[in-house]
Parts: sequence; C-alpha cells; structure tokens
Amino acid sequence: MTLLLQNVVDLDGRRVDVRIEGPRVAAVAAVLPPGPGDDVLDLTGSLLLPAPAEPHAHLDKALTSHRVPNRTGDLAGAIEAIRLVAAGFTHEDLVDRATRAASEYLANGTTAIRTHADVGVHAGTRHLRALLQVRDALAGLVHVQVVALVSAPFSAAEAEAAPRLLAEAIDLGADVVGGAPHLWADRDAGQALSFDAALRAGLPLDLHTDETLDPSAQGLLDLARRVTATGFDRGTTASHCVSLGVHPLDVARETARAVARAGIGVVALPQTNLFLQGRDVAVAPPRGLTAVRALLDAGATVGAGGDNLRDPFNPMGRADACEAASLLVTAGHLSTRDAWLAVSAGARRCMGLPVPAVAEGAVAEFVAIAAESLDAAVAGAGTSRVVVSGDRVLATTQVHRSVLPAAPGVPLPGAVSRS
Ligand SMILES: [Zn+2]
Repeated sequence: MTLLLQNVVDLDGRRVDVRIEGPRVAAVAAVLPPGPGDDVLDLTGSLLLPAPAEPHAHLDKALTSHRVPNRTGDLAGAIEAIRLVAAGFTHEDLVDRATRAASEYLANGTTAIRTHADVGVHAGTRHLRALLQVRDALAGLVHVQVVALVSAPFSAAEAEAAPRLLAEAIDLGADVVGGAPHLWADRDAGQALSFDAALRAGLPLDLHTDETLDPSAQGLLDLARRVTATGFDRGTTASHCVSLGVHPLDVARETARAVARAGIGVVALPQTNLFLQGRDVAVAPPRGLTAVRALLDAGATVGAGGDNLRDPFNPMGRADACEAASLLVTAGHLSTRDAWLAVSAGARRCMGLPVPAVAEGAVAEFVAIAAESLDAAVAGAGTSRVVVSGDRVLATTQVHRSVLPAAPGVPLPGAVSRS
C-alpha cells in the first residue's frame, strides 16, 4: 500500500498532493489521481509540515512536578529536588512515565526523541536501563535515542564513581554520551570525561553546555576547539548554551563561527531556560536563551525543543513542538518559519537524522495541522492533527469546538464548529 495525502499546503504555501511509499515521498504534484494501491487521506485545510523531533528530553524525570517542589525555582533547586525524589523511582515508574510522555509527544507530531537519562550516584544506571527498555518498546513508532547524562559530582565519592558509571552506561547500550560540564567545579575535567568517553566508544556527544548566565562560561567555545583539534566526527550537540546569549555580540559571533566550523549543533530550549534562569534578577530579568540569531547567521545548525516536561526543572510543557517554536518567535525573535525549522529540520540534524521535506525522495515524516497559516498552526494549542511516518498514520487528533450563536440561527463569524 501507498499513502496518498490530498490537498495539503506545504511550508512554502504550495497546495499539492503527496504520495508516500515505504519511508519516502514517492511523488508530489498539484494533482495525483488515486491509484489502486493508494490509501487516500484528504487533508483539505491542513498544512503538511516536516515532523518535529524533540532533541532534548528528560523522560526519566517527566511528569513529576506534583511529587516534589522546586523550592528556589532555579537550576540548583531543580537538581536538589530531583535527587530527593529519584531514590523513589522504581523501574516500573520510570518506564510508565517515560512511555506516557513519549505518547504525548507522538500524538502532537514528534516522531523522534532524544532523551537524557541521569547516570550518577543518585540514579546509578537505573534510569538509563528503563529508558533503553522504552526505546526498544517504541521502535517503529517513535525513534528514541538515549543519552547517558553523567551527573556532575558534588562530592569526592561522586567524582570517583562518575567515570565508572558512565562506562557502565555505554556498555548497557546508550546511544549518545552526555554530561553537564558547566556544573563541575573543574569544567574542563567535566567536558574531558564525556568527550574522551565518546571518542573511545565512537558514539555521538550531546553535552548540557553553559546552562548559566555566568558570562565567564565558555564551555561552547572550548567544545568547538576540542572537536576541531581532534577531528571528532561522530556528531556533537551542545544544549542550552545560555551564556552565549549574554556574551558581547562580537564574542558571541566569534564563538558561533567556531561552532559552525566544528559542525556542532546547538539546541535552544526556551521554556526551561525562561523558567530556571534569571531568578536572581528582580527587574527586567534576562530571558536565558542562547544567541540563536548569531548562530544562524554564522551558518551553525540550530535545533530547539521542550526539554523538561512537567518536572522540577519545568512544571509546564505540552510535549508539543508548537510550544517550543512559539517561544522561539516570542522570546527568541525568530520568524515563525525559522522557528519551525529549528524544531524540525534543525532538531533532526542535531540528532543525526535525515530531514523530511515535501519533495520526491525525501524521508516522509510529517505532521498535518488544520490551520489557515503557519502562524495559526504554531500558535494553536489544541489543533486537529495527523501524524505521518512513512506510509503510516501514527496518530490523529480531532478538535471539536462549538460556540453559542450571537442570536438564534445566526452563528458568530469564525465561530463555526470544526473538527
Ligand atoms: Zn537537559
């Protein structure tokens, strides 16, 4: 069977029909007459967008904000809270929450998720093992990558355990090596531990980088130099990069050029940054976003995602790339199109995945959203959607809304029911 999507509007505003065969787009034309093998779906009124990917999730922590408060509201408070509650995470609890969160992402159109898993004395490799099980269980539905996020050590015992636990996590089957060097007392040692482990294992690297408004944090530039000096070519992603956003513009631009040369993908995470950063600034607090414009202008790959989902690091979140894209427009001042490309094409490049497009031969990962414009699609929270992965429809959401007429029999303009 092939899947024929009729009457969609693509990102460039073209109204087309799209035939999908296996994992790829087989044909695109103004009109494609249905063939005998076509499963036909009329999507009149919908935009067909490259499906988003979530390049930076924490499925092991997801859906726990009601269990433990973040007392200070900042990153330190979130880490303290999660370490308190993590002791009570059973394997079943981890698998259950991660699966429910992944299902939310998928229903909203996200067909690939890179999730970090805490690896440290507070978690051992328990979180990682649970997320590997979820990864394997969801194969064929959601492409899940698991990052071994080795915790920054807050004691001598934790420092001693970190290399051993990271090696164990890699042996268990982690897809990517992670870390958070900006939280280490010795930031260079933190970066070197994860980098050297990725180099030895031949795995991609994805580091929480400079998740701080401290302008002295230069972990991103250090990482770019390390990648360039060693020729590391397994794929490097730097997430957050908050301090880049408070560096003087010429410094930020120079770092952005080094990042582009090194081929590092930067993942912006507006919602969690807006929540956690700038808590100590009473008036006009900084937004805490990385310098997305400087990075794009330098030709660097920029992805974006939602990060934490209703946990002590971020009590909000809809598991919806529209939310991250919307925040990139509002708080990051990107165009809606650039914002959507960040949560879709950019996010997938950061994960080492091919980029979908409404073009013959491209991979067919799409979300169709019922909306009259890209602005309406991204701004809309409860929109009707169809999630397409290859020639299969993986999820549908239908929205039905009714509004009382202004007078009997006289519907309010624009207030028609729609499903
Ligand atoms: Zn994170």
